[in-house]
Amino acid sequence: MTNKKEIFFGPSGNSQSFYGEGNTATLQAPAWVSARGLNAFEYSFGRGINIHTAGAREIGAEMRRYGIELSVHAPYFINFASDDPEKVEKSVVYILQSLRLLGAFKGLDVGADASDKEGTDGDNTSGANADGNKTNGVGVSVPGGCGELKTTSPLTASSITEVENEPALSGRPGRVIFHAGSDGKMLRKESFARALDGLRMLLSVKNDSPYKSYLLCPEAMGKSAQVGSVDEVIEMCRLDALMYPCFDFGHINSITQGGLKTKDDFKRVIDKTAAGLDDARVRNMHIHFSKIQYGAKGEIRHLTFADDIYGPEFLPLAEVIAEYRLTPVIISESDGTQAEDAAAMKRIYESVVGKIGK
Ligand SMILES: [Zn+2]
Repeated sequence: MTNKKEIFFGPSGNSQSFYGEGNTATLQAPAWVSARGLNAFEYSFGRGINIHTAGAREIGAEMRRYGIELSVHAPYFINFASDDPEKVEKSVVYILQSLRLLGAFKGLDVGADASDKEGTDGDNTSGANADGNKTNGVGVSVPGGCGELKTTSPLTASSITEVENEPALSGRPGRVIFHAGSDGKMLRKESFARALDGLRMLLSVKNDSPYKSYLLCPEAMGKSAQVGSVDEVIEMCRLDALMYPCFDFGHINSITQGGLKTKDDFKRVIDKTAAGLDDARVRNMHIHFSKIQYGAKGEIRHLTFADDIYGPEFLPLAEVIAEYRLTPVIISESDGTQAEDAAAMKRIYESVVGKIGK
């Protein structure tokens, strides 16, 4: 890893304008994103793992060609807080499948899928709110009629070798972002304890897998029933040195009913993290940033930067990032304008850094 101060901005999935300009496949996204001055991209498996390893390898090679930092978002139906052991085990499998696909994006030979098709680009990656592929909520769907991904032996170490000599993206390990789960009928304390147990189970498998160097990023959530307050994210990360926080500031703003307004509001989140985690995880945290409509129970829906009611605004966070010299990956999850809003955040950050004089 270089000492160069690197900060990453990019979209979650493809913007409306990407398709509006006639693009049809995520294979075209790296060049498109790069042409907009961006250097990150988050591929969402939110509604299910929608791509084959061959397609992931092709897209990943393009991402490397353009120097784009690629992260993946694990399926939304993961629930480590469930009181059903089967659901927790499935959650472990979904993360392992996400890690495996991330390996494919990164150019690892992770073996073929059960019925892999050459160059398949699932292309259901139009962001956090897009209508993507359908999932049955139990298995992992693969559009194109390929059925479920084989989960019997997702992690055979001997079948996985590094076949490309290219350095990992920007010398950084890959990242899998995930939602830890939700309450159900349990008391929060109990469901959080279950989530920690589920994560321990995940870590014991992950740390014995070819993907042990990849980062797992539990996300700060926007609804009161969801596990993932700032404190809980920090505590989850304390389970393992390679668990990095994913702070979704739109979520944090939603759950605190608009609590993120001033620079100090953002600083409190970062300072709390610095008190609980080592420097590397503070500096290189994962950030989701979008404006989000909220109600009494928190998040309602993702908006765009055109919103001037709900917030939060990016400027005060940009000031904190510059002051603390953080080098996060910042992903926009705006509703349809992810690339535009990521570029807007980059401009805001650069104007702040310009004013401070580096
Ligand atoms: Zn998320």
